[in-house]
Amino acid sequence: MSAEGGIDRQRLLALARQARESAYAPYSGYPVGAALLARDGTVYAGCNLECASYGLTLCAERVALGAAVSAGRREFLAIAVVAAGPVPPSPCGACRQLLAEFGEGTLVIASNLEGHLWEAAVGQLLPACFRFPAPRRGAGG
Ligand SMILES: [Zn+2]
Repeated sequence: MSAEGGIDRQRLLALARQARESAYAPYSGYPVGAALLARDGTVYAGCNLECASYGLTLCAERVALGAAVSAGRREFLAIAVVAAGPVPPSPCGACRQLLAEFGEGTLVIASNLEGHLWEAAVGQLLPACFRFPAPRRGAGG
């Protein structure tokens, strides 16, 4: 996939759909898959990870971000999110904030299993997101 030359939506959605197959969602019964496209073209997949202590649950988007950041990526072009339902899934507020941490221009491409799509930039989904007024010391490279 050529990252700078354009976003291959169908490939990204296929990878998100594939990641959904690994979801651990015994409580909600709502498996979600995500595929995060880094600027260099690498794709990081994530699925939701639920827990009996519900508050510890991780969404697919945040799992994908964790994988990408762990691999040294910090610039992203798009994230595809796939789940079943009458309408495509919409990232929760926590995921919107974490995606915004790495750029409000990241494109969210959401689809249900029937292929109904919508897309919007993170900055559109979370206007006026929280920011520290100045960079903190020791925040890392
Ligand atoms: Zn979320």
